[in-house]
Amino acid sequence: MPTRTTPAHAAPPAAAGPADGGHGRSVRMRGLRKTFGSAVAVKSLDLDIGAGEMLVLLGPSGCGKTTTMRCVVGLEEPTEGRIEIGGDAVFDARTHMSVPVHKRNVGMVFQSYAIWPHMTVAENVAFPLQMKGLGRREIAAEVERTLELVGMEAFGERPASKLSGGQMQRVALARSVAMRPGVLLLDEPLSNLDAKLRDRLRFELRDLQQRVGITAIYVTHDQSEALALADRVAVMRDGEIVQLAPPLELYRNPCNTFVADFLGVDNLFPVERVTDDDGAPGVRLTGHGLVLRTGQEVPAGSGLHACIRPEHVRVFSAAPGGENVAAGRVRVASFLGSQMRYEIDLGDDLVVHAACPAEDDAMLREREAVWIRIDPARVQVLAEDAAPAGDTR
Ligand code: ATP
Repeated sequence: MPTRTTPAHAAPPAAAGPADGGHGRSVRMRGLRKTFGSAVAVKSLDLDIGAGEMLVLLGPSGCGKTTTMRCVVGLEEPTEGRIEIGGDAVFDARTHMSVPVHKRNVGMVFQSYAIWPHMTVAENVAFPLQMKGLGRREIAAEVERTLELVGMEAFGERPASKLSGGQMQRVALARSVAMRPGVLLLDEPLSNLDAKLRDRLRFELRDLQQRVGITAIYVTHDQSEALALADRVAVMRDGEIVQLAPPLELYRNPCNTFVADFLGVDNLFPVERVTDDDGAPGVRLTGHGLVLRTGQEVPAGSGLHACIRPEHVRVFSAAPGGENVAAGRVRVASFLGSQMRYEIDLGDDLVVHAACPAEDDAMLREREAVWIRIDPARVQVLAEDAAPAGDTR
């Protein structure tokens, strides 16, 4: 038996599904391991994905996201472990059973659009249905339904070669959805699109997934994409899940420095532990000397960092009372519509990011002397390799 290196990641309680009940199937992975020679791509993964859930695999290049996905669809044979779809085993290393790719009812959409340029949009969607042996009328109805779902109903007769990148990806999506897969795998499907289109398609994709009730596993290394799309995000590193949580929980409580850093936390400072004369826990910012009290436990372990959300840094024009106060100077003030973002220079190369409602703090200008205050309850201290506290289910 493989050694379990990650906690068993259970599916969340069933969410309210789409009106038609949906056709998504649950996915269960146990002890999933995949090696290529001496390289370990996936270490020992235990993961449950609920029917109709959108699970995002997030992590840096080479952490094993695509390999995990390829094992689910059957394009890679795991070295060890078991995979079930809808409660039925599709792979089991111990009994040497493996259901072939075309019988797993798993759809895939890739980064490259992978549609046939010599066919029309409608023919692209119809082709796999013809291969499946569906009747002409059934196919026509399915093509119409899915093109409507992705907002491409007016493009049925257009040659696929005469589409924009975003339209091609919609067709690829329609083609996968038309097959009514139990699980849809999406491997960085938006990464070839420009930023604006990517943002729009992100919402459309989430909306489509909810309406169809499809189970989706989505691979990305873009944290904002992951947070926007997912029911839960699995952050991976070196073939393992480091943390598995709904987006808000992940954003608020990254379990360690790696996750916080990968999520793009602006204020992440190396610190060392200190204790006040009265025994209150605190940390000193390495290389600066600023001591911050924390209302939270300082974990054991190395590589301690203070993690402070920009929205928890209060900025004042006059020295405020209270704890965790420091003087500085506004280095950059950016107006972002609903909020102001400030970079506050505290000296000795320490810059703190602050986010304030625009109407309150619009008066602060660059080079102005200011004070910051951080509520001790908002100072999180993270260790380098800490696992999530408690159960992540
Ligand atoms: P990316 O975001 O760059 O696509 P990823 O997280 O999807 O990365 P994988 O593609 O799953 O990572 O790769 C995980 C590890 O397995 C990497 O070190 C990679 O080099 C290795 N790997 C993947 N496929 C093969 C293969 N066919 N042969 C040898 N090594 C492989």
